[in-house]
Amino acid sequence: MEVSSGLSLPTLLGRLMPYVQKGWNLSRKYHQFNGAIKFSSYSKRGYACIRSNFIAHCSSNDLNLDLPNKLIHNASVIYCVSAAMGHNKESHPECNKRVPAIVDALERLELSAKYRSSQVYEIQNFQPASLDDIARVHSRSYVTGLEKVMSRASDEGLIFIEGSGPTYATGTTFQESLLAAGAGMSLVDAVVEASRVNRDPPVGFALIRPPGHHAVPEGPMGFCVFGNIAVAARYAQNKYGLKRVMIIDFDVHHGNGTHDAFYDDPDIFFLSTHQAGSYPGTGKIEQVGAGSGEGTTLNLPLPGGAGDYTMRSVFDEVIAPSAQRFKPDIILVSAGYDAHALDPLAGLQFTTGTYYMLASNIKQLAKELCSGRCIFFLEGGYNLQSLSSSVADTFRALLGEPSLAPQFDNPAMLYEEPLNKVKQTVERAKTIMPRIENAQIQCFRFSVQHYTGTAHDCMSSKELEESLSELQVGKRQVSHGENGENKSVQNDMSKGEVQVSCFTEDLHDVTLHFQIVKFSKQIYAWIGCNSVKLGHLYAAATTRPNNIVSVTSILGGTSDNTGSSIARRLVSKTGLNIVVACNIPKDSPMLEATAERKLTERLAGLGYFRPREL
Ligand SMILES: [Zn+2]
Repeated sequence: MEVSSGLSLPTLLGRLMPYVQKGWNLSRKYHQFNGAIKFSSYSKRGYACIRSNFIAHCSSNDLNLDLPNKLIHNASVIYCVSAAMGHNKESHPECNKRVPAIVDALERLELSAKYRSSQVYEIQNFQPASLDDIARVHSRSYVTGLEKVMSRASDEGLIFIEGSGPTYATGTTFQESLLAAGAGMSLVDAVVEASRVNRDPPVGFALIRPPGHHAVPEGPMGFCVFGNIAVAARYAQNKYGLKRVMIIDFDVHHGNGTHDAFYDDPDIFFLSTHQAGSYPGTGKIEQVGAGSGEGTTLNLPLPGGAGDYTMRSVFDEVIAPSAQRFKPDIILVSAGYDAHALDPLAGLQFTTGTYYMLASNIKQLAKELCSGRCIFFLEGGYNLQSLSSSVADTFRALLGEPSLAPQFDNPAMLYEEPLNKVKQTVERAKTIMPRIENAQIQCFRFSVQHYTGTAHDCMSSKELEESLSELQVGKRQVSHGENGENKSVQNDMSKGEVQVSCFTEDLHDVTLHFQIVKFSKQIYAWIGCNSVKLGHLYAAATTRPNNIVSVTSILGGTSDNTGSSIARRLVSKTGLNIVVACNIPKDSPMLEATAERKLTERLAGLGYFRPREL
């Protein structure tokens, strides 16, 4: 906290009221970037950092200590600006004029925090991402290697960094890329916190560069340095237990970096629309994920010339139903504006109105499916005029205000969309969509099979087999994938043979995340303490012939028996086989007791207890 000790009260008040700050100024923002790096000694992130500074240095009771939090919780849009002014190459499409052009448009159209004090909030002085945050997505050798070449970039002014696509770097690229990723993480903090107190939390928008969706786990690619949206997805999972993340990528190019990072991950559903055959040439419709993640990747390559009508159909027929099947805990959006008809880098025909429609519909989807938790991340968009007016109209959509698209869009620039080709693509996507549910069923099936397989001695193998055989319905779909079978899965799910329930309990200093998966004869319960780490794993079941409950440790040492007694008692209460995964630290009996009580209450509420236990 040594930095904050030097702050005067006027400085602090200045941070509390960014919404009255003066207009855009390039040098001001660049200095702000330097200042933000200096604050890295704080342990808290983003606005939480602002608030803790304030409390530490101001004792006046006349001021409302919760002002920033209240402003964030009650806003409709919150945003971070990280313009990366030092990461620049003259006449390059991904240059440092992009974010200032957007901020200028927001000011001009009176959509910025300055003009909308109660509706729009700009989070400033957010923290850069840490190396550990980045390393959840990228290899450490890439991250440390990039840091090392910064001195050479400083000496030479500009270098091209090694990778599989053209990406330049300057002396500030590393730190500015960390700051871009940190902006997205700060928005995760703010949106998740707001969703706990407000049924209609603000939507976040990270106005950041360099963009991220092409950066692959092993390196940079296609103007992208770190996968900002991928880093935020992992952060949301790890910090808040938001297990299921949906990423919608409507940039004109395939988001191959995000795609690769989560290709075998059943908990992150990546859906990309992009122009077929455009850079980098990946994202074929046949690429649907691998292993337990099969079904949680959906690529929708659109023919050149596809535009507004196409995207409206794609939203209604593919994006919305896919999201409804996946049931995300948060929706993140790779918002690239280079599919606009005026953009120089590709050949789709989106209009300002298309982006308004997408933002409005995605916000509504998040409200229906995940308590409104939704954050947009700037990716591409290289015509400064169409980029800035489209982001401004996105803001208007998120504010629930009418579109100004007719002022910006000239119908004369559009030509007929290739609707027959689009229809074929959409119909093909519809045959893939049932795999989203299949991936979930397969995932539970694999995990239960894995966990209980090694506990065979104490489980009744016949009952186990029966439980697992009920899940074969998912397997049938992998091999056929016909429309008719989709219905049978939904029917089986609605009969309650596999029921999933997730909830989070905030205690004073820890957060407990719970996931309950109920099969007909067994329950799999996961208790995550502050994180989604699996922890110790115990299987408990009654053994023949005397119906004594036996517990077997599957993962973790027997001396750290957190969770084993919970599993044992739940067998008595439910009469079912129980698998408990628990990462509560050992020697925390109070926490363990609280976790068991919360879990027990929920199981009772769900009607999973034997009648005599009620
Ligand atoms: Zn792009």
